Amino acid sequence: MYIQESEFTMVEEGFVARDLMEEIINDVSQTDDRDAFFVADLGDVVKKHLRFLKALPRVKPFYAVKCNSSRGVVQILAEMGAGFDCASKTEIELVQGIGVKSEHIIYANPCKQISQIKYAAKSGVNKMTFDNEVELSKISRNHPNAKMVLRIATDDSKSSGRLSVKFGAPLKACRHLLEMAKNLNVEVIGVSFHVGTGCSDPQAYAQSIADARLVFEMASEFGHKMSILDIGGGFPGTEDSKIRFQEIADLINPALDLYFPESSAVDIIAEPGRYYVASAFSLAVNIIAKKEVQMETSGSDDEEIDLNKTIMYYVNDGVYGSFNCIFFDHAHPKPILHKKPSPDQPIYSSSLWGPTCDGLDKIAEHLNLPELYVGDWLLFNNMGAYTVAASSTFNGFQQTRIHYAMPRGAWAAVQLLKRGFQQPEGKETVCTPMSCGWEISDSLCFPHTLTSTGII
Ligand SMILES: *Cc1c(COP(=O)(O)O)cnc(C)c1O
Repeated sequence: MYIQESEFTMVEEGFVARDLMEEIINDVSQTDDRDAFFVADLGDVVKKHLRFLKALPRVKPFYAVKCNSSRGVVQILAEMGAGFDCASKTEIELVQGIGVKSEHIIYANPCKQISQIKYAAKSGVNKMTFDNEVELSKISRNHPNAKMVLRIATDDSKSSGRLSVKFGAPLKACRHLLEMAKNLNVEVIGVSFHVGTGCSDPQAYAQSIADARLVFEMASEFGHKMSILDIGGGFPGTEDSKIRFQEIADLINPALDLYFPESSAVDIIAEPGRYYVASAFSLAVNIIAKKEVQMETSGSDDEEIDLNKTIMYYVNDGVYGSFNCIFFDHAHPKPILHKKPSPDQPIYSSSLWGPTCDGLDKIAEHLNLPELYVGDWLLFNNMGAYTVAASSTFNGFQQTRIHYAMPRGAWAAVQLLKRGFQQPEGKETVCTPMSCGWEISDSLCFPHTLTSTGII
């Protein structure tokens, strides 16, 4: 595995990210060097992958690199045979750099710079999306082997991050685009959509799958050979999300069987981002400064909270770093105290601020916390999606380091999956996870049918 040894810890079964955090906190607490850090539980990513294959057996996931492009995540997904949704030259370079084949990449950005289209052409990345005429002309001049996927707009009104305001052709524009592609000799091979990130309306998937069927029909009128349906991302990545992944899968599967039955021989792919990484990352930040603000008011009805003062805490990661998700992803991260407070400690209304000199750099306010001290730690769960991905070094503060943890059992499962996806030389049968009877419970489970096929 390519992950650097220093950042990568193999852990025993039963490990929780919190154990590794404790260990790191213990180590650094002997020193003054208490930088913020992430613990990434790659076992959680493995579990998500197995769950995806089980819940959506006809769908091949192409992980959306923009959600979290950290090397450990990308590498473990590549090892397990996932495909990748890349949106730029750099993302293509990243996944090709670890050996991902170009067939396993979709360049899923409908509006691309010409030099980057040329780069895709040169590196053999042919599958790419479009939603407008100008893109088609650019493709016809710069990428003769392109296999285009038409991105259609969706009703994303019930998603926290709307994407159809920017991308996606309305259904009524599709006929014209398909005709133009024909005239320009540009091959169109499929349809994609994205219901918006943080989608709370699973019906949006079923509706878009039905719409995609209409576009398939139109495309075949123009002689396009349609073979790919891409159902995008938008799947939840945490247990506490409004709608559960399984509920979405339970709507998608019958819609696929209705509009794209197996007999249609259409390959179905998805572009999950958040789903894979949100719950795998936990963040520990350290209090670097503190300010008490005396309040004029006194005498409160609420006996639990001392209103004589509020406390401002300054920690060593903020909205210009990992907490950019507050602005870019509408997130509301909630801290967990590292040290358990005793029940009789007074509680103060508190706020949390990042380390930069900008007043905008506020992580949370109106938190009811016991008094904390410089050097204390605060922990945040579910910090894997759209966090490290867009963090900057504004004001000279460095990006937060990631410690990867790989449970031994999950690692073994990855090795099994690897063999499952790649036919071993000299073997007649291909054993893919889709055809194996996976049994996935909360603790990782091994695909026992793989063992009985004699492949291992
Ligand atoms: C952002 C994005 C994704 C990933 O979305 P999630 O909601 O994180 O699953 C997938 N496809 C495209 C085209 C995207 O822009």
